[in-house]
Amino acid sequence: MTEDEIREWVRFIATVERHQNAGDDNTKRAVRREFPLHFALLSFWLNQYGVTGGVQTCAYDPPDDCDLCGVSLSKNGLFIDGQIHDGRWSFMCLGCYAGQGTGIGWGIGQLYRLVGKDGNGMANWICIAGGPPNAEAAGPR
Ligand SMILES: [Zn+2]
Repeated sequence: MTEDEIREWVRFIATVERHQNAGDDNTKRAVRREFPLHFALLSFWLNQYGVTGGVQTCAYDPPDDCDLCGVSLSKNGLFIDGQIHDGRWSFMCLGCYAGQGTGIGWGIGQLYRLVGKDGNGMANWICIAGGPPNAEAAGPR
């Protein structure tokens, strides 16, 4: 990778991070239009690693709090159900995952995003990365 290519990747990452919470779709659309190749390559690479492209599933009865530090999982709107360094599995906040998680991928860890609450007020979490690679692996719901 050339110095110019590396600079463009850094600019891409900084731009994506800066506008991630943009409420209007036009801003995100403009970012996608500015970096079409970067989004495509990154998506392809993440799929090559089994991180994205799986079947979208919902978390079944996750705990309210991080197994490792006790922070509310809904605080950041993300959690990881994954394997930690000692081989056990945990429901983790992003901070604990960064220190103890072993990765995102089917059989390693799933990244869940909070998308709202159901009719009974229960948190509704969907798997956005590391999910089952196909419907057969997802199993009956
Ligand atoms: Zn934690």
